Amino acid sequence: MQNEKTDAADCGAPKRPRTTAGGLYAYANQQHDGEDETTETGGYSIERDALECGICFMPFQAEIYMCNNGHAACGSCCAGMHRACPSCRQPIGDIRCRPLEKAVAAISSPCKFRVSGCMKILGYTERRSHEASCPHAPCRCPFDGCYYQGSMLYHHIQEEHATDGVDVAIRRCTAVTLHRSKPFHVLLNRGGTRVFVLPNGGDVPMGRSLSLVTVGPPPLPPPPPQRGTPYAIKVGAVDGLDQLSISGTIPRVRCVQGFEAKSFLFVPDAYWGSSGTIDVAVTIG
Ligand SMILES: [Zn+2]
Ligand SMILES: [Zn+2]
Ligand SMILES: [Zn+2]
Ligand SMILES: [Zn+2]
Repeated sequence: MQNEKTDAADCGAPKRPRTTAGGLYAYANQQHDGEDETTETGGYSIERDALECGICFMPFQAEIYMCNNGHAACGSCCAGMHRACPSCRQPIGDIRCRPLEKAVAAISSPCKFRVSGCMKILGYTERRSHEASCPHAPCRCPFDGCYYQGSMLYHHIQEEHATDGVDVAIRRCTAVTLHRSKPFHVLLNRGGTRVFVLPNGGDVPMGRSLSLVTVGPPPLPPPPPQRGTPYAIKVGAVDGLDQLSISGTIPRVRCVQGFEAKSFLFVPDAYWGSSGTIDVAVTIG
């Protein structure tokens, strides 16, 4: 039988707002719209770890439990610890911490990408998953020396780096000439807004590594039936050397700097010839 005691000393007790320099959640002048009433707070801050689970050290999930000594943790974390509190070894997982659940449920604040156009007001427990896939999260321009970050990367590249982008059509084969000395080539989805980057990595000896990645936010829900956009890259046979090819699904990132491809096409030095270029056939979609 479930014991729902809620009067432990350090659970749900009112805490004086603290003003330490780091690790604060700040909520200033939030407006909470209900059906019958509107409440405005005067602004307050909460120490970050006051709202984090004592087991996973992440923001609490919706159901919060506590041990007899008032140590609090998410329900799923209690199960993972075989219902033993990691702080005091008392049983944990039977007593709901209702005051803390209530406090967490009452917290809402705008998405951190509001300046980029997201107008969502998020509850505490949904913030992390939303911001990880927010369509307004900024994407960074791949070109060296350019510090653009925003949600209009396609238009930015067309305006600022027009001569460096190659138009590609979806579900069509596009011929692209790659220069050995260029660390990547940018492909722009003609008639759409997607940006693809074809890294030409120098991280392998005696050749180059070709891969493909798209720079952009995740697709809006509902998710597409397939896991990602398929692609194929082919390097034609030259001087008795065989054709090379790779295919797969295109990973998606918001920032290509630091991207490491999980799979790539190795193009040995002999393919690049004296011109330092190769022609590749790229098919996306
Ligand atoms: Zn947890
Ligand atoms: Zn405990
Ligand atoms: Zn958002
Ligand atoms: Zn740029």
